[in-house]
Amino acid sequence: MVRKNTVLTLGIISIVILLTIQVIITLGVWKQKDEMFNLRYRLYSQDALASMSRKWGTDGFDTARLLISAYSASAVKQITEAKSDSAIQRIKDDALFFTEKVLNKEQDLSPYLSDYFGRQGVDRNFNYKVVINFYGLINGDKRIPVYVNEEFASRRPVRPDTTQPRTRIAKRRPSPEILVLATRSEDNNYRLDFAFLIDFSDKKSVILKESAAYLSLSLFSILVVVLLFIITYRNLMEEKRLSNLKTDFINNMTHELKTPLSTITVAGRTLEMAQIRSNEEKVLETAKLIGKQSVHLNQLINMILEISMWERTQFELDKKKVQIEEIMNDIVTSFRTGCGNCATLREKYSFNGESVDLDPVYFTTLMNNLLSNAVKYSDREPEINIEGFAQDNTVFISVADNGIGISKNDQKHVFDKFYRASTGNIHKYKGLGLGLYYVRKIAEAHGGDVTVSSKPGKGSIFTVSIPY
Ligand code: ADP
Repeated sequence: MVRKNTVLTLGIISIVILLTIQVIITLGVWKQKDEMFNLRYRLYSQDALASMSRKWGTDGFDTARLLISAYSASAVKQITEAKSDSAIQRIKDDALFFTEKVLNKEQDLSPYLSDYFGRQGVDRNFNYKVVINFYGLINGDKRIPVYVNEEFASRRPVRPDTTQPRTRIAKRRPSPEILVLATRSEDNNYRLDFAFLIDFSDKKSVILKESAAYLSLSLFSILVVVLLFIITYRNLMEEKRLSNLKTDFINNMTHELKTPLSTITVAGRTLEMAQIRSNEEKVLETAKLIGKQSVHLNQLINMILEISMWERTQFELDKKKVQIEEIMNDIVTSFRTGCGNCATLREKYSFNGESVDLDPVYFTTLMNNLLSNAVKYSDREPEINIEGFAQDNTVFISVADNGIGISKNDQKHVFDKFYRASTGNIHKYKGLGLGLYYVRKIAEAHGGDVTVSSKPGKGSIFTVSIPY
């Protein structure tokens, strides 16, 4: 049990570690692909801008700058004439609103980029936005700040004394957007820093497509590892179950062999006693007992030897054509007398006089095992219904009892070698766990099969099928 739990825990821990590593690697790969994507599109954008500049000598915002400059000049004028702080603030707000609107409307980068991307055969579905980082008005020597983007200000200090407008592509920003253009413009009326950003709506699916091979490989490797673990674990459990069965078998066998052996020992001692020896009737009785127990002992040993022999060689049947109904009647009759009317046995056959090729000795053993189990595993007056019919060149014989029944889990194993059901008191019903194994082997040797259906507490039905 300890071993089982340890194996299970170790297995689960290994799988969790593996999953964590895979997740970390996948996230890393994703991040790398994301960066590559941004880099690629930044390079495309740079190329696009360079080609635009070569063609038209503009970065696409010249009209916007002219409009902003004119508006800024009038805003400066209004501010000098304004009487209160709130009036100044309103003028500043209007100027910022105007600037933002013009930048977002009066630029023609987006269609140009889209065209350029299309020509390059790459994704052209992007959203764009213009972000103002700094906007200020200029009145002679006096500078009037209107808006400072805090994020920008903390990263890139504003240099108010810069006089020449300049354009540059800034470093990568840690946002999902790609920075295409960051520019600074300044004239006598205003100073403006802004950035043009694009954001691909299909970026995730593009990256997913690119990483599909890696992702499926990693998923496949996880599945293989989990599958291997399950197989190994199941094998281990099966081995453990077999080893438990063997131990049980040895215990049961010792128990089974000991009973006749101790009877023989006691009988031997009895024969040593003078008063018994003088009583001829008693001697005969004891000798018969010894003989009976020896036969039983012999049967047990033969059964074990025979089964171990089957493991090595295919056992040979001595088949004969027999009237199936006739042999069934014979078997049931001799079982009834043999067990001293121990059960109510009912028979119902519709074989239509079919003859079947089978080994009568092995077949009798098979039926006897089923019948004696039906009597043995019963906690009330045993009632056994034996039915038979022929269909599709196969005879079906079922033995139904009103015994203790077999649980669903045990039903899967009852035909296994040494298996004894765990439910109920196992020592109450003596056995070696070989009877049904024998039944299955014999049925299979005849090209047939045996199945069980059962309800615990209600009874069991064993059905043997033999083709003819
Ligand atoms: P054994 O009887 O020696 O234990 P078997 O191979 O004949 O071995 O049966 C295997 C197990 O199947 C038994 O231990 C018993 O628990 C269960 N079994 C077999 N036949 C019946 C039956 N008719 N009713 C209930 N349980 C049965």
